[in-house]
Amino acid sequence: MEAFGQLVSLVLLIVGGVFWLVASLGVMTFAEHRGLSSGTYFAAAFFLSPPVAFLAAATARPSFNAKSVKRCPECAETIWREARKCRYCGSPVQVESAG
Ligand SMILES: [Zn+2]
Repeated sequence: MEAFGQLVSLVLLIVGGVFWLVASLGVMTFAEHRGLSSGTYFAAAFFLSPPVAFLAAATARPSFNAKSVKRCPECAETIWREARKCRYCGSPVQVESAG
């Protein structure tokens, strides 16, 4: 039954590979949604480990240089550029035009 064992190993490898790729893509989407570099987190997930990259993306604060975020003038927290109200302190903020 050595051939069968090899077949099982191959199937597990393929299934694991597909799962790994899907998890990496999920991390990439998650990072993108958070205003982080999607390419960087996809690479981290794919070449290191999806759970590790996911944790990194979940705990990382969006970069202030990212186009999609700005900083609240009242509490200095990073908020979405489209926001009209700070989600941390609730103070109204000016909506900045995209770009
Ligand atoms: Zn605020």
